[in-house]
Amino acid sequence: MRLRHKPWAAEYLADHPEILEPDPASYRGKWASRFSKDQPLYVEVGTGKGAFVNELAEQNPDVNVIGIELYESVIVTAVERAVEKPKDNLILLKQDVADLTDFFAPGEVDRLYINFTDPWPKNRHAKRRLTHEGFLTKYTEVMKKGAGIHFKTDNQGLFEFSLESMSRFGFYFENVSLDLHQSGMRQNIMTEYEAKFARRGMRIYRLEAVLH
Ligand code: SAM
Repeated sequence: MRLRHKPWAAEYLADHPEILEPDPASYRGKWASRFSKDQPLYVEVGTGKGAFVNELAEQNPDVNVIGIELYESVIVTAVERAVEKPKDNLILLKQDVADLTDFFAPGEVDRLYINFTDPWPKNRHAKRRLTHEGFLTKYTEVMKKGAGIHFKTDNQGLFEFSLESMSRFGFYFENVSLDLHQSGMRQNIMTEYEAKFARRGMRIYRLEAVLH
């Protein structure tokens, strides 16, 4: 993700605490009370500019959606989208996914999405991959039993690494596709990165990993 400095972003985000929750730890274990309805909670890690979470929340009024992104200059676009088209089932967090267990109680998350996360191809950077066992340990702590991770990537190496890494945690796999856009899968919500790769005719890998 190329970062552009946006000096106005901090002020814009501070003006929208109804969308960008500034104190997520205070809702740990009680996110249902932060939304207008008590319903299943879906979380996307590495949300980027938020096209996916905005659309997911829009299409699924019966779930609560949280998107987590590290950078202010990136998540500000996700917040702008939510301001333009308000929804009462979407919250955004400008936070590090490494701190996930500070924000969610064990079993609080019904589904987790990882879309086009940075592949970090060098071995010495493997721990930064959002499907590395360090992150999987945190995901499995906050996910309900039977919950799934829905994962998409354009990167074959990252896909193979993630399959291996997740299988060590006892996930089983469903709806695996080695070429999503040719698979006839309906109801796919495209992310920004996915749209860019699709325009270049690149293959998209996808899986659902279900926690026993
Ligand atoms: N999911 C979006 C998409 O598919 O268009 C964005 C993909 S972009 C390659 C990956 C995003 O993950 C970047 O915006 C990056 O800042 C974010 N990210 C990476 N590591 C993160 C972390 N530890 N915590 C929060 N966000 C992270």
